[in-house]
Amino acid sequence: MIFSSLVDYIYKDCFSYKFRDKVETLKNNRDNFIKFYRRFLYKEIKNPLLRYFITRHYLDYVEIEIFSFCNRQCWFCPNSFIDRHSQNIFMKEETYLKILKDLKSIGFKGGITYSRYNEPTADKIFLTRLKQAREMLPEAILFTHSNGDYITKEYIDELADAGLNLIRLQCYLNKNEKFDLENVVIPKMEKNAQRIGLPYKVRTKTKTCYEVEFEHPKLSIIWEANDFEHSIGVNRGETIEGMPDYERKKPCLSPFRRMYIDYEGSVMPCCQVRHDVESHKNMIMGNVEKESLFEIFTGKKFADLRKHLACFGPKKHPCTTCTATEANCVFEPHIKQYIPNLKKEFIK
Ligand code: SF4
Ligand code: SF4
Repeated sequence: MIFSSLVDYIYKDCFSYKFRDKVETLKNNRDNFIKFYRRFLYKEIKNPLLRYFITRHYLDYVEIEIFSFCNRQCWFCPNSFIDRHSQNIFMKEETYLKILKDLKSIGFKGGITYSRYNEPTADKIFLTRLKQAREMLPEAILFTHSNGDYITKEYIDELADAGLNLIRLQCYLNKNEKFDLENVVIPKMEKNAQRIGLPYKVRTKTKTCYEVEFEHPKLSIIWEANDFEHSIGVNRGETIEGMPDYERKKPCLSPFRRMYIDYEGSVMPCCQVRHDVESHKNMIMGNVEKESLFEIFTGKKFADLRKHLACFGPKKHPCTTCTATEANCVFEPHIKQYIPNLKKEFIK
């Protein structure tokens, strides 16, 4: 229903006459329609309605950094050399509400997450921001990662009442600790479980990952420990040394469907890059304090980056050695929405 009414809307009000025949023939064929308009992912769009439509169709994940502070300086994070702990700079409330307003206008039902390079639970303004998002976007999935340092049973209940759907807590090892399941990881996790006083079951237990799930009536709670040295560690846009050697040749789909918004409004195309790393400045796609989400998502910088990342072959910095896969798996079933032929370069 939504699909055909949008097509009707575009047909009547948006496109000039030269598009009308094409839209007419595509009207009842969703696959063809997708093929028709995915080309707009690779060019700057100036038509406001087309901007809106493309953003609505493709954007399914937004990460928002509501303030800058993190209490840790983990070795595998750029916070180990960029100061995010001596002060806390908050995203302006008007900026946050502007983001939500843009998302509301496209009926956003995707994921909103709050963990960039801050620790979102460190300040209880997080509860206010969750409530605002829940009120404006009742169908969005609100979730966050957290280092777990501030988590108590009471705080878990407050987060659930504010509208959070899922929290993934990280059980980090101290600098000199190794990922030793029986002697280090499991005892740490048992202490965490005592702290929040909830029953749990083990979901994953491998050589590099231990993950448990707690029982709570309103909130999904996962607490996980990972061996960043030997498994999922990513070099964070080529800023962290000591990660496995790798040359990225496969595509990356993060810029096709995701936006990551730093506390001062910069929009980044993936979680690996950030406005306050000098060598990542070229990955700033725009700023939500000055532009709408639609202008940025359909702007030239996003379009050019997608052209580069849609193809197999060597990638430019900061993607040259990036191992990130969580946002970017090229084998997801719906991937043909974005890339017509994965075996050859198709963008000239
Ligand atoms: S990995 Fe997370 S907890 Fe550690 S410094 Fe970075 S943002 Fe903070
Ligand atoms: S390849 Fe890595 S650094 Fe580049 S856009 Fe994708 S996730 Fe980000």
